[in-house]
Amino acid sequence: MNDEGRFGQYGGSFIPEILYTSQQQLLKAYREAMSDNDFVQLVKSEMQHFSGRPTPLTFCENLTKKLGGAQIYLKREDLNHSGAHKMNNVIGQGLLAKRMGKPRVIAETGAGQHGVASALVSARLGLDCTVYMGAHDIERQYPNVFWMKQLGAKVVPVTTGAATLKDALDEALRDWSSSYEDTHYLIGTSCGCAPYPEMVAGFQSVIGEEVKEQSMAQFGKYPDRIYACVGGGSNACGVFLPFLDEAAELVGVEAGGRGDAPGDHAMRFNTDQARFGIAQGFATKFLQNDQGQLLPTHSISAGLDYVGVSPILADLEEQGKVRMCSASDTEVMEAFSMLTKYEGVIPALESSHAVAGGLREAAEMSPEESIVISISGRGDKDIFNIAKALQDEPFNEYLESYLKEEVA
Ligand SMILES: *Cc1c(COP(=O)(O)O)cnc(C)c1O
Repeated sequence: MNDEGRFGQYGGSFIPEILYTSQQQLLKAYREAMSDNDFVQLVKSEMQHFSGRPTPLTFCENLTKKLGGAQIYLKREDLNHSGAHKMNNVIGQGLLAKRMGKPRVIAETGAGQHGVASALVSARLGLDCTVYMGAHDIERQYPNVFWMKQLGAKVVPVTTGAATLKDALDEALRDWSSSYEDTHYLIGTSCGCAPYPEMVAGFQSVIGEEVKEQSMAQFGKYPDRIYACVGGGSNACGVFLPFLDEAAELVGVEAGGRGDAPGDHAMRFNTDQARFGIAQGFATKFLQNDQGQLLPTHSISAGLDYVGVSPILADLEEQGKVRMCSASDTEVMEAFSMLTKYEGVIPALESSHAVAGGLREAAEMSPEESIVISISGRGDKDIFNIAKALQDEPFNEYLESYLKEEVA
């Protein structure tokens, strides 16, 4: 990355004039913090004692035997506190906010996972926390809203536009424009203006660093291929970037949804509906129509339906250093069931995209080769969506009878 935060033609900082000073302050504070060994050790210590790192690298003996191809390993980000890799980033940025002397953080959230992670870390670090969330997402993801409130965060419903993630992001930027003196904007993925893509990818790189050590210790070499699902791109950046100079092939899996038509998927690479654009403070590949209006998206997983993608990944894909494939909603449910039934690991629907991509290709590889699949989060949060997709009648009956029960 250069000083303007460009990655090839992507990235940069396209923000209102009023945010320029705080953006420059953040850039400087981040660079200084990362060259201060005490800060780096503090981040490491919080990741260990609050989130439970290092997370294991788990061998899948049953699926490896069944498919008869590459040795299959899982990087278990689902075992982080709060159940996803989001924790790595909020710990880093939360500690950075404190170091900058900012007592308040704001965050945008789509499905609510980043909102909950921000609320958790704010409670621990004594920060005041406000989360912007689309009104439509609040309806769909109420359990996460419930936890944010229990943790003492303020949840602000956003009713503009489609009332989803990109609208929440715009609203958070608006807040920051008038509050930057005492407020840090805690972005949840490796998108947005510089230095966010670099910073979030930096805090997430602990994933790939651990995979390097663990693969050497457990099977004596680096994996031949690494798979990660790609929403905004933070778990993918985290597991890929430490391997950029190695032989491992890096494979991103985006949301193929229910079809190729506009609005039915969230593919930014395997489609001709996405191209270069500037929105939400940065340049990247956005799904857009001929007039440049951002398109609606769909995915069975709430965390993979962002309309843009990390400028780091857009650039790496263009350079041929990352390969992008996709998995449809149907393939994702099959992959979810395979991992659950054969390995006893319940992946998030987002992570099940990476599982779908990995299992599809592992079968074609040789037993001398090995792959690592990033399990970005656990599936417990998806119980309602999974029950619906599997048309599990007993679960729906349970929900109905639970509501009728008297409060004791
Ligand atoms: C938020 C989320 C994602 C998508 O975010 P990235 O920035 O693309 O990693 C993927 N998996 C889980 C479990 C999530 O919570």
